[in-house]
This record gives sequence, C-alpha cells and structure tokens, in this order.
Amino acid sequence: MAEIQEIFGSLVFDDRVMRERLPKETYEILKKTISVGKPIDKSIADVVASSMKDWAVELGATHYTHWFQPLTGITAEKHDSFISPVSDGSVILEFSGKELVQGESDASSFPSGGLRNTFEARGYTAWDPTSYAFIKEGVLCIPTAFYSYGGEALDKKTPLLRSMEALNVQVLRVLKLFGKDVKRATSTVGAEQEYFLVERDMFDARKDLIFTGRTLIGAKPPKGQEMDDHYFGSLKPRVSAFMKDLDEELWKLGVTAKTEHNEGAPAQHELAPIYETTNIAADHNQLTMEVMQKVAHKHDLVCLLHEKPFAGVNGSGKHNNWSIATDTGKNLFNPGSSPMDNAQFLTFLAAVIKAVDEYQELLRICVATAGNDHRLGAAEAPPAIVSMFLGEDLEAVLDAIITDDENYIHKGKEEFNVGVSVLPRISKDATDRNRTSPFAFTGNKFEFRMVGASDSISDANVVLNTIVAESLRQFADRLEVADNFEEELHTLIKETITKHKRIIFSGNSYSKEWEKEAEKRGLYNLKTTADALTHFVSDKNIELFARHGIFTEVEMRSRHDILLEIYNKTVRIEARTIIDMIKQDVVPASLYYVKDLSEIAANKKELGISVTLETKLIKKISDLAAKAYSAVEKLEADRLKLKKIDDNEKASFFNKDVILKDMAVIREYADELEKIVAKDYWPYPTYADLLFGVK
Ligand code: ADP
Ligand code: MG
Repeated sequence: MAEIQEIFGSLVFDDRVMRERLPKETYEILKKTISVGKPIDKSIADVVASSMKDWAVELGATHYTHWFQPLTGITAEKHDSFISPVSDGSVILEFSGKELVQGESDASSFPSGGLRNTFEARGYTAWDPTSYAFIKEGVLCIPTAFYSYGGEALDKKTPLLRSMEALNVQVLRVLKLFGKDVKRATSTVGAEQEYFLVERDMFDARKDLIFTGRTLIGAKPPKGQEMDDHYFGSLKPRVSAFMKDLDEELWKLGVTAKTEHNEGAPAQHELAPIYETTNIAADHNQLTMEVMQKVAHKHDLVCLLHEKPFAGVNGSGKHNNWSIATDTGKNLFNPGSSPMDNAQFLTFLAAVIKAVDEYQELLRICVATAGNDHRLGAAEAPPAIVSMFLGEDLEAVLDAIITDDENYIHKGKEEFNVGVSVLPRISKDATDRNRTSPFAFTGNKFEFRMVGASDSISDANVVLNTIVAESLRQFADRLEVADNFEEELHTLIKETITKHKRIIFSGNSYSKEWEKEAEKRGLYNLKTTADALTHFVSDKNIELFARHGIFTEVEMRSRHDILLEIYNKTVRIEARTIIDMIKQDVVPASLYYVKDLSEIAANKKELGISVTLETKLIKKISDLAAKAYSAVEKLEADRLKLKKIDDNEKASFFNKDVILKDMAVIREYADELEKIVAKDYWPYPTYADLLFGVK
C-alpha cells in the first residue's frame, strides 16, 4: 500500500489543493466563504471552477457532476463532460463558474411529494462549498443542494445546512451569556456504520435479497450469535482483504475511516470514521455506503446495508455520535473543570434532555423506515421508545440539582452558584456501559443509536440540530432578560431537569418492564413507521421547523407524503417478492421432493418394506405447502383490497396491520418447509450458507 498520508484525500479538492492552486486572493475569499458557511461569491466562481477542472483532468477525470441527495435517500448524479467544441472542429475542456455554482436538472423522476408539478419539472442544484469536491470514477463530483423552482428543498442536504445554521445562531446566543467570544458553532458527527457481507453467488440466488435487501423467508441456522464469538473476532481473509481495500478507497476520498471490526452477528461488521462537521459527515457516510458496495462487488461479495437482512439475527444500524464544537476548538459537551464551565455544560445538557423529551416522536420519525421497523423493538436493537442514558455520575449530579442537595451543590456566594461546584469526573466507562439505550451520553457526545444502516444520517441530524436549537432558543430568551443571570440559570436548569427527567432511563431498554414503565411515564412507543409518521405534521412540529427556517409547512407535508409512499412501496415490493418466491420456487421445490418421496415409497412397497417415514414426510410437506399456498392467496386478496385505498396514510396502516402480517404467516410455513425439505431440493441458500459462507 502506498503511504497513507500520500493517498489520503488524493482525490479531493481540499484546502491543501486550493491553497496550492488558487490565486492567493481567490483562495482567501473562498476560505472565508467556507468558514462562515455562506454561498460562494460569483466573482471568484470562474477561477475556482477552472482550477478545479485542471486538477480533475490531471487526475484523469473527463466529466463533472452535481452530486446530490434526493429524498430517495441515495445519491444522484448526472454526468456532463468537460468538452466544449471550438470553431475548427476540435474541442477544448471547459468548466465555468456558472456550471460549478448552479446546475439545472430534469428532476421529475425524483420524489417531490407534489412540490414540483410536472409542468415545472426543473430542479436546481447549488454547490455546497463547505463540502469539498472530489473525483469518483473519473468524474469530478460537486456536492450540491437540490431544490425546486420555488426554492423548496427537494433533498436531504438543504435542511441539514439550514438546521446547522439554526443551531449555530442559538448556541452563540447562549455562549454569549457565558461571556464566550465564539464566532461559529457547528454540530459534529461520527457515524459508525454496520453492515453484512455475503458471498455474491449466494446473494444472486435469492430473489428476496436482490429485490428487497432482506431475506423474506429463512429458517434459523443451528448456530446463530449465541456464542458471541464473532464480535471483535479475528477477520476472515476475504473480509480483511475487503476492509483493506475499502479503507484505501475511502481514504482517497478523504473519508476518515478509522476502525473496522466484526460486529455481534456472524457476517456482520462495522466501520467507524473519525467525526467531522455534520454536513460533511453526512456526505461522507453516503460515500461510504456507496464505496462499500462497490468494493464488495470487486471482491465477489455483496455488502448488505438493510436494517434487518436476517430475522432473528442482530440488525444493522448507524450509531450517530453527535456533539457541538466551536471555532475556538471547544466541545460543548465536555464537562470541563471550572465551576463556570460546569454550569455551561449543564446548560447544554439540560437543553438536550428537554429537546429529546419534548420531541421524542421526531427522533423516532427521523429513523422510521420499513426496514428499520424490523430492528427497532426487536428485543436486540434499540427499542422504539426514545429515552436517554446519562450514566450514574451525571444522574447523581442531576438528582442533587433537583433536590438542592447541599452536600453536592456548592452554594457559596463568591463562586458561581449554578449546578455543582465541581462536577465529578465523568468516566467514559460509566457512560458507555448501557448498550441498550437509544440515546446515550458517552462522555463528551451523544450517541443516537436508532438510525438505520441504510438511512442517510441527514434526517436524524436535522432533527437533533433543530430540537436542541429550540431548547437553546427558549433558554436564551429567558436568560437574556434575567436580572441575575446566575440565579435564573440555576432555576432554569433545575426546572428543566425536573420537568424532563422522565426521559432519562438507565435500565435495560429491551425489557418488557421498560415498555410498561415508559407507558406510565407517558413516553411514546411508536412501534412502526405507520404509527410514527402520523405525528410528523402536528402543529407543534410544523411550528418548530418553521420557526427555525428548516422546513415550511408545504415542505413538511410533501416530505410526509414521500415518507409514506416510500414505506408503502417497500412493503409492496416485499409482498410481490414473497408471493413469487412461494409460488415459483418454494411450493414447486416441495412438490418435487414429495414426488420423489412418493416414488421411493412406491418402490419400497413393492419390496414389502415399511413406508411409514415417507408417508409421514409426504403428508407433512404436502400439508405445509398447501398452507403456504393458501396464505399466499390470502395475501393476494388483501393486496387487491390495498389497491382500493388511495390515501397514503391509510395504506400505510393497512400495510402494517394486514400485509406485513400476511407475510409473516407465509414465512412461518415456508420456514417449516425449509427445515424438512431435503437440502438438494431447496431453491435458496440458507441462513447458514449466507451467514457462515464467507471464508
Ligand atoms: P466508542 O468506541 O466508545 O463508541 P469512540 O471514541 O471510538 O467511542 O467514538 C465513536 C465515534 O464517535 C467515532 O466515529 C468518533 O469519531 C465519534 N466521536 C468522538 N467524539 C465526537 C464528537 N465530539 N462529536 C461527534 N462524534 C464524535
Ligand atoms: Mg458506538
């Protein structure tokens, strides 16, 4: 392998390259633009574009694209070559500032939820200069936002950038009250990515994996993950070759891939990058998912990013580690050591506690997909109930604040009187122990674990940034007019924690007892996407997003509709696939086996040998096949009913209550069949093949 330093970022038009290649003045202007997160100054666009093109061409690029993130959740690109004809019939390579800064694309085939009428099918893309351009497979990719003619966001980046700005504004207000001279605050994110690797030929032999990304049928293998021997276990040679290659490809793109290891389930792995500014972390996570799949392909493997590829086996998520950093190099969730720093830390902590409690449903909604429903609440992943884990040390501090515990709280006159005189050292160990919590404080950041493996992390961070901005806004409104800042702050923190402590839970979040307890506490338990999405466009949420300039009501309604549609479509494809599998493969395979068993039985009878076993098997398999077939017929009938429902929301409930349940019944019969039909006859690789197949 080449020197890591040499390859890292070698395909990125980053600060290093800009400083080297741009005229000094242009570089300074651009740099300033980037640091304050503003759109690029038109006056320098041509120079930047031309320099970018020269650099890209030197590295073998022939095309450029505005790389964007439509609401499908995956990235989109349309390639244009740099060539431009000149009068003598030859071509020159060109890339103008205009082409860099703005693009126009026929966007009618991307979901818009009614925002973009077909007569106004144009969508526009605009460069996000805070995220560096890069080269991917000979194409210069410009990270862009995507919006409609009317300026409505049609993508995941636009609201993310808006939410980062909203958070910045409110954080600065609060920091100012603490006398801090901070010019910019940004949320930071490190997204740990889980995935499965399976052999490509086995993947290709399963329609369910091909069409839906998850297995719709499949009996449990004799060995699952009960031995816990996979987690952090040594890597199989093919996997380690894949990871090495993956790291190298990601490094070239400037993605800070840091840690690679096996995860809980067999064939499951994880990649953790080093955290970055949120919008870059989001771009990089998209790239990571894309590169993972491409590199896997090269190794004759397939990388599964579905949240629950295998029933009964750990699902895959993304741990979204989130914090707030300032331009002065401080992490606002670092408890600090002086009483003043402690008070500031407690203020931001209280803001997060309030935000998570008041907007629990939004945290559930931003991770709500058909795939993630199989993971959340499946007794081994984060539950569908949102709660927070803070660790013993912090909980003790909060308790002391609520009860005015004199031993704990320093109430001296001379010293800053908020919170505790000195916070106890928050040991990372104490905060990282609870792996069952959906939202855990891990020493100096929050780990939101409900995000699905295939999700864009943008939605989750739009919500996190916005709800925390809202808490901070309310805090600032109150503190800015306080006569005595210290006293008011103390009261504010005490009140906030007292009011929202119901969201804090340190026990086992997977347990049945917690479900009951959470209900008592009045917490939401939104088990499915259908249940969650109904809460999205409530007055409260519309007001929240509008106030901070993240979404207009129109944008929210369109997004709501798109989310419902994606859910319904996902279930529709799954239903069609399982019908096909049972009718085309499972039932025929079972019948062929029955036919051969019957032949054996007939032969044995002629010889006067007992056919009890054959008869038993024939009866059992015939019976199960018939039941599976009837269950498919029921699903088909229900699909006809579903087609008559023309409201997306009603359809989502029908999918959840009827279609998915029909599929579960079919699956039971199919899995029973799989267990007794001879392996040679079974049409698909089994769970054992898939999970233990990669050597
Ligand atoms: P652990 O192994 O305990 O989960 P790590 O230190 O390995 O903790 O971090 C896990 C992820 O959290 C990494 O992606 C890391 O970069 C990220 N992370 C660490 N500090 C921050 C922070 N201040 N803001 C956002 N993410 C962070
Ligand atoms: Mg983690």
